[in-house]
Amino acid sequence: MSVFEHPSFDNHEKVLFATDEKTGLKAIIGVHSTVRGPAVGGCRMWRYEDSAAALNDVLRLSQGMSYKNVMADLPIGGGKSVIMKPDGDFDREELFLAFGRAIEALNGNYITAEDVGVSPADMMTVRKETRWVTGLPEGKAASGDPSPVTAEGVFRGIRACVKRAGMSDLQGVRIAVQGACGHVGHYLIGHLAKAGAELVITDINEPKLKEIAEEFGAKIVDKDAIYDQDVDVFAPCALGAIINPETIDRLKVKIVAGAANNQLATRDMGGQLQQRGILYAPDYVINAGGIINVMGEIQGDFDPAWVQGKLDGLEKTLGEILDRAESEGRPSNVIADEMARARIEEARVSKAA
Ligand code: NAD
Repeated sequence: MSVFEHPSFDNHEKVLFATDEKTGLKAIIGVHSTVRGPAVGGCRMWRYEDSAAALNDVLRLSQGMSYKNVMADLPIGGGKSVIMKPDGDFDREELFLAFGRAIEALNGNYITAEDVGVSPADMMTVRKETRWVTGLPEGKAASGDPSPVTAEGVFRGIRACVKRAGMSDLQGVRIAVQGACGHVGHYLIGHLAKAGAELVITDINEPKLKEIAEEFGAKIVDKDAIYDQDVDVFAPCALGAIINPETIDRLKVKIVAGAANNQLATRDMGGQLQQRGILYAPDYVINAGGIINVMGEIQGDFDPAWVQGKLDGLEKTLGEILDRAESEGRPSNVIADEMARARIEEARVSKAA
């Protein structure tokens, strides 16, 4: 398994392979960039097929965090960690203590938080071994659940795209939400319904889906039918890679804008959306509300007004990306990646000066 030659390796500053025989810990920590500050990004625990799959995930995700954090104009870099979930029974407390010791060894270069498969309680365990952890449920500046802020950022992104597509506001705009019962999806639906949107929703959690449909007067569709809806906006808020060769030709929408990370299965899907006249709001730009919320905690003084100012910034950045995509006739995801890389490079140059 190669690392430096790996297709997802992007001159990551550090890649730490951490193991602990006693607890079964097998973790990889990717520090993509600390040019703008400590690398911040969550820890994911997943049953990976092998260490090559875990490495690929951490390299990609940590680069994505650098892009997300710089586009939200936060004074932090990007990193991520993955834990290969042990087979069979394991002592969760001991595993996360060992993981905490691995984080501590990076001496503040990387700050972790929860992600898929990891809970706030796990992060409290990590906190016993290191202070380089955030997104805690309790403590002086605890920021709590980031989902409401993520949902607000996504809502603002959808509203901006709708205006750009020639509709005056969200009244009567038809929106299909995938992952309606999730932390972000549920809050997002609340905003959209309040703004007068007509909602079509899906989720695999059927009982909760029914409740949400009743609460907001939304129409339920089967999870696979969500791609075929005759609506204006598709808002993916569940899984990654849902814009792929199997789904892209089925979309009849004008806009794709949602919370899910890594919505495009491959980078060229952005070009295909553009060719089909579909406006795409780059996921890591409009879903940065969560990391903005967490940043409030890192700063040690949680200030809701500062969070709102950063959400205004997200909307402005999205506007710049979509302006450039239109004037240059190039895909919005490509423009966003270029802008993120340029901003990181700018910081590198000014730091070196
Ligand atoms: P969540 O786990 O609370 O919600 C995901 C929802 O998707 C669940 O209700 C689940 O039942 C549903 N789902 C799973 N498979 C599905 C399928 N095949 N079809 C339809 N629904 C399905 O997660 P979340 O915190 O709401 O995050 C949603 C997405 O947004 C994820 O991709 C996450 O990485 C991303 N994101 C979340 C935040 C945040 O603040 N929570 C921040 C940035 C990005």
